[in-house]
Amino acid sequence: MSLHIKQNTPGRLISFFLFQVASVLQENAAMRPLIVCTICNTRDRRVVFLPCGHLLTCEVCGQETDTCPACILDVSSRVVVNQ
Ligand SMILES: [Zn+2]
Ligand SMILES: [Zn+2]
Repeated sequence: MSLHIKQNTPGRLISFFLFQVASVLQENAAMRPLIVCTICNTRDRRVVFLPCGHLLTCEVCGQETDTCPACILDVSSRVVVNQ
């Protein structure tokens, strides 16, 4: 697994998000449907929204949304997860 950090993300946030991503990926290993994008329902989830840390969308949908679908927070930057 590797992470591609986009835009300027503070270091303290990166460690928080790595933790979020690791826990999400662990859940996903057991529950495959959870890793499907919540917007298009076809592609794998790849984008962690900052600052909320939610991993909900694929790379395509993640780039097109400005607010997190789960908590409606404005997305300030995105972390793309490549498994
Ligand atoms: Zn999608
Ligand atoms: Zn969120």
